[in-house]
Amino acid sequence: MAELPSRLQRLADSLSELEVDAFLVTDEINVRYLSGFTGDSSSLLVSSGQASILSDGRYSAQIQEQCRGIEMRIRSSTQTAQDLILESLQDSRIRRVALEAHHMSVAQFQFFEQGCSGVELVATTGVVEKLRMIKDESEIATTRTAVDLAERVFREMLPTLSSEHTELEVAHSIEQRLRDLGAEGCSFSPIVGAGPGSALPHYQPRNVALGAHQCLLIDWGAKYQGYASDLTRTLHAPQVGDSFKRAYEGVLEAQLAAIDLIKPGMPVKEVDAAARAALQRHGILEAFSHGLGHGTGLQIHEMPRMSPISDEILAPGMIITVEPGVYYDGDFGIRIEDDVLVTESGHEVLSTLPKGLDDCRFIL
Ligand code: ZN
Ligand code: ZN
Repeated sequence: MAELPSRLQRLADSLSELEVDAFLVTDEINVRYLSGFTGDSSSLLVSSGQASILSDGRYSAQIQEQCRGIEMRIRSSTQTAQDLILESLQDSRIRRVALEAHHMSVAQFQFFEQGCSGVELVATTGVVEKLRMIKDESEIATTRTAVDLAERVFREMLPTLSSEHTELEVAHSIEQRLRDLGAEGCSFSPIVGAGPGSALPHYQPRNVALGAHQCLLIDWGAKYQGYASDLTRTLHAPQVGDSFKRAYEGVLEAQLAAIDLIKPGMPVKEVDAAARAALQRHGILEAFSHGLGHGTGLQIHEMPRMSPISDEILAPGMIITVEPGVYYDGDFGIRIEDDVLVTESGHEVLSTLPKGLDDCRFIL
């Protein structure tokens, strides 16, 4: 039997455990991860020793270039994408096929259910996403570049900030500079929140001047060759109040305590708990309103989720964010976020921007 490219082989290896003879991949990001194909409207049908990419005529040349070792099936002008999937399932005499339940509409499911006589549909969740959790050498190298680009833009931008700049201008300049440096852009719309804006964890920057607020929270990341970085720093003015300083020290201690625990075999729950314990010691735990972090990769939010209800165990090759934060409505918010690689022996913090209270003082 022919050997498949390694990522597809790993999926094929999971077929017997799933008790299916093929896996239909319909999520665009999962298709890209497994095949290298960067277009859209295409799916993958994977059985042991065989993988087909099902697409349309616009993509024939691109697929030939990007997807070595994968059979290509192009639909005719009278077929829909679903018709081609159905035809491929029937041609390959598949009896039981796994579907990606999170990435299929009810209408698509009903179409297959009605059209696939003799083929049993098996709903699965997170199968390819679990493979994506462990990054290989090339993914780690690409993520390093995404982190470096994000940091470079931040360092360059800091001395240019002025009180007249609006939050939106700062967000746009981050995006533009990232593109100038060779990134595809931001990995998500940057959060730039001055003063009370920093108190909303998913704040959207507005057309308001940075002005004379006591703090400025910036959460941004680069997308480089598909891979995301995700960082947050909270800057503060020299006249910032004592309650801000105390909270900042608490958040920083929580972040460092959590990072310290990161190593293979560690339940993410325990990492999350270490951050919460530090926030509790500082009396600010009730102001922490989200999970501790998340995996990054081809998407900004990937597995593992770092939270008290996650059962994931850390393993070498995972890249996770650690981002405790506290939020005081109408007043200020503080979040500190770094990207951390789980290594064979422990961890490596990929981001290097300083984050001590004094390092983050700024004057507009
Ligand atoms: Zn972030
Ligand atoms: Zn994040």
